[in-house]
Amino acid sequence: MLEFSVLASGSSGNALYIQTPNTKILLDSGISGRQLQQRLQEVSGQSIADLDALLLTHEHIDHVRGLRQVLKQSQAQVYTTQGTWHHVQDTAGKDLGSRTPNWVVAGEAFEVGDIRVTPFTVSHDAEEPVAYRFDCGHSSLAVATDLGYVSDSIKSVLAGCSCYVFEANHDVEMLRAGRYPWNVKRRILGDKGHLSNQDAAVALADLLDLKNDPVDVYLAHLSEENNQPDLAEITVSSVLTEIKSIYKEQIRLKRTSRAQATMLHTL
Ligand SMILES: [Zn+2]
Ligand SMILES: [Zn+2]
Repeated sequence: MLEFSVLASGSSGNALYIQTPNTKILLDSGISGRQLQQRLQEVSGQSIADLDALLLTHEHIDHVRGLRQVLKQSQAQVYTTQGTWHHVQDTAGKDLGSRTPNWVVAGEAFEVGDIRVTPFTVSHDAEEPVAYRFDCGHSSLAVATDLGYVSDSIKSVLAGCSCYVFEANHDVEMLRAGRYPWNVKRRILGDKGHLSNQDAAVALADLLDLKNDPVDVYLAHLSEENNQPDLAEITVSSVLTEIKSIYKEQIRLKRTSRAQATMLHTL
């Protein structure tokens, strides 16, 4: 049995908590230590000190803002690629202590307690970024944000999960018409940027296995500037329905927020 909560999601901060009765993992620490502590407590009754492991996806500030506090307040084992760790001091601060991380290599699965973790490469403008799939018994959760596109090899890692936390970063028209400078727009829209609402739907249609039970999809990492929760949901839903009408009943879209944690979801 896996349980998780998206503690925060959006361009301003990302963190996700996963637990089994034996194992407690934090995936990214992109909100302040105080907010992390508060939301962990709210959804699970746990605190930062209870964490067994902290996994990092990449070094951008919206994923490591609270890293120093997590390292200070817990004995959690850190899992990260060497590339991410190499750059993390540039964003999370110099005084990260002397903890030696466990090196993550894309494609090489590892165990944290009773959770099997599969890291995979994503195309994003960071140093050696990864995303992760988590398995425990028959429960599986994939968390895929901060990626410019969904390659065939990513689809094969993510196929058939029972639940997804999936990036729907922006609406392409809002981004194009918005006030960001052209080089930032080009970065977001590019192969090393973020998935649009449309991209998310098209990729999801390829990897969902609808022979099984309905699948929950949390739309994640929404841009504050270039997206709206309603718009993301309507776009993903209508594109999916256009591809296959059965998707309407079989995919349950859920929201995430930068301001509050989602309720603990049991898989
Ligand atoms: Zn991000
Ligand atoms: Zn990023």
